[in-house]
Amino acid sequence: MTQKYSRMTEVLIRELKSSIGEKSVSVKDHEIENYSHDESSLIEPCNPDVIVKPLNRNDVAAVLKFAGKHSIAVTPRGAGTGLNGGCVPLYGGIVLSMEKMNRVHEIDTDNFMASVEPGLSLTQLNLDVGQYGLKFPVQIGDMSASIGGAVATNAGGMNAVKYGVTRHHVLGLEAVLSSGEIIQTGGKFVKCSTGYDLTQCIVGSEGTLAVVTGIILKLARILKYKELLFIPFTNLQDAVDAVPEILKLNTIPIGLELIERDIVKLVEKAFGIEVPYKDNEAFLIVITENDSFDDILRFFSQVEDICRRHDAVEFFAPGDESAKKKILEMREKVYPAFQKTGPFAEIDTVVPRSKVAQFIYDVKGIAARMDMSVLASGHAGDGNIHLHPLCVNEPKQEWLKKLPGLMDEIYRLCGSYHGAVSGEHGIGLDKKRFVPMTADRGSLELMKKLKYAFDPDAILNPGKIFDL
Ligand SMILES: Cc1cc2nc3c(=O)[nH]c(=O)nc-3n(C[C@H](O)[C@H](O)[C@H](O)COP(=O)(O)OP(=O)(O)OC[C@H]3O[C@@H](n4cnc5c(N)ncnc54)[C@H](O)[C@@H]3O)c2cc1C
Repeated sequence: MTQKYSRMTEVLIRELKSSIGEKSVSVKDHEIENYSHDESSLIEPCNPDVIVKPLNRNDVAAVLKFAGKHSIAVTPRGAGTGLNGGCVPLYGGIVLSMEKMNRVHEIDTDNFMASVEPGLSLTQLNLDVGQYGLKFPVQIGDMSASIGGAVATNAGGMNAVKYGVTRHHVLGLEAVLSSGEIIQTGGKFVKCSTGYDLTQCIVGSEGTLAVVTGIILKLARILKYKELLFIPFTNLQDAVDAVPEILKLNTIPIGLELIERDIVKLVEKAFGIEVPYKDNEAFLIVITENDSFDDILRFFSQVEDICRRHDAVEFFAPGDESAKKKILEMREKVYPAFQKTGPFAEIDTVVPRSKVAQFIYDVKGIAARMDMSVLASGHAGDGNIHLHPLCVNEPKQEWLKKLPGLMDEIYRLCGSYHGAVSGEHGIGLDKKRFVPMTADRGSLELMKKLKYAFDPDAILNPGKIFDL
């Protein structure tokens, strides 16, 4: 089906303003530009016709009823930190920015839960619940992201080895359907076998099924100590081979990250962040937390044994907070360093974690054959490796001509490893064409039927995940 969307006219803008209030609707040029893109590297910006900043769920319902009546596309937006153009308004229309719906309604310390609005940033959420010794344990690379965006993309991040991803912390949702109807799914309980799980259906749906206006989150307790190891290896294979053995230990680290030398160097060049042993080929960062420091030391000594067997060059346990911070900062600056360096693409494939080493080697083989460069970093502990094709030593136009062929081969390879196109960033605009390489036809058809069941006129975030 090819959907035709209307554009906002002066008359329609007046109608919208009279329905939800003048102040919530903006058509200012600079704002239009700011809301035309996210943080993705290669996606062209698209201007919305208007930006609406709802104050509550009733505003959201009114906007969706209006949009349905006039066939206007609506693109929900959190903080715009997404990496696939998920909040880019492909068909113009309305960007529904949730930034003003950022309240915390309740922090329930007995049940370890919080009830929040979607526009709240992850940083602010942790500040608020941190006062009670609690945390939202999903730690993504850009904590200015909103919790609504994290829910909509099922964000993952560095702590997934122990804590899983966003969906594992969402117990219930308030969401507005494209008809304007408000639904409540799940609740403040940890078990539920009452029909289909609509909460988890909306989590990760990238704004294509409903607009999330409220979230009930499961929180975790802040533990007393958080420590890390930075372990250099002379080659990538040794580093990745140590991962499955570390994961077999009794203690589960919160994160187990892999990073290549060339990326460490990019970060140093872009931000001046220098880490020790930087001339080695690959590094593991093992992060753990515990109330007992002795338990941490015991775990570290087991990790050391494993890594030494895999020819680790050193075993660096930064003692002071500033040294720890520097290593984590280096890891967090990977994406911004690529942004500063030049044209690059971002691949967020996930494969069974025992296959990570071979997968990376196969990818590098494909890249070498095509005379291209692909650097690897990311969440080795959960099989979610970020691959970065980078334009080096050739004009951008030449590189862009070769890129689609490289991407095709990498995603096909991922399919052959029984992996998935995206482990945590979502599909958005730029990964749509790869989804059939790792998902079967029946599942895709079912997803499209589900889309129409939620949103019969397909006004919600059209053009994302798949074409209808
Ligand atoms: C430097 C950097 C590091 C990153 N590191 C990680 C990482 O480690 N792990 C990870 O998973 N991601 C990471 N990301 C990607 C990004 O931060 C996440 O995808 C984040 O969840 C997006 O949140 P947002 O509020 O910015 O959403 P946006 O970019 O605004 O939107 C993302 C998607 O969510 C939808 N959406 C937003 N709010 C709502 C709502 N209320 N209702 C319905 N749909 C909605 C949008 O339509 C869009 O499809 C990183 C990004 C950057 C720039």
